[in-house]
Amino acid sequence: MKPSNHKETKMSKKWQCTVCGLTEQGVVPPKTCSKCGVKSDRFIKIK
Ligand SMILES: [Zn+2]
Repeated sequence: MKPSNHKETKMSKKWQCTVCGLTEQGVVPPKTCSKCGVKSDRFIKIK
């Protein structure tokens, strides 16, 4: 862990909906998929 003077945005991850394949970026998966509407537990973390 190195200290930084810059205010970095929180570690952003990429999430993919396993139902429709939509990808979203964020610290946490979206509450619901904006495309097909499934809940966040249908999202998986991708690189
Ligand atoms: Zn979806």
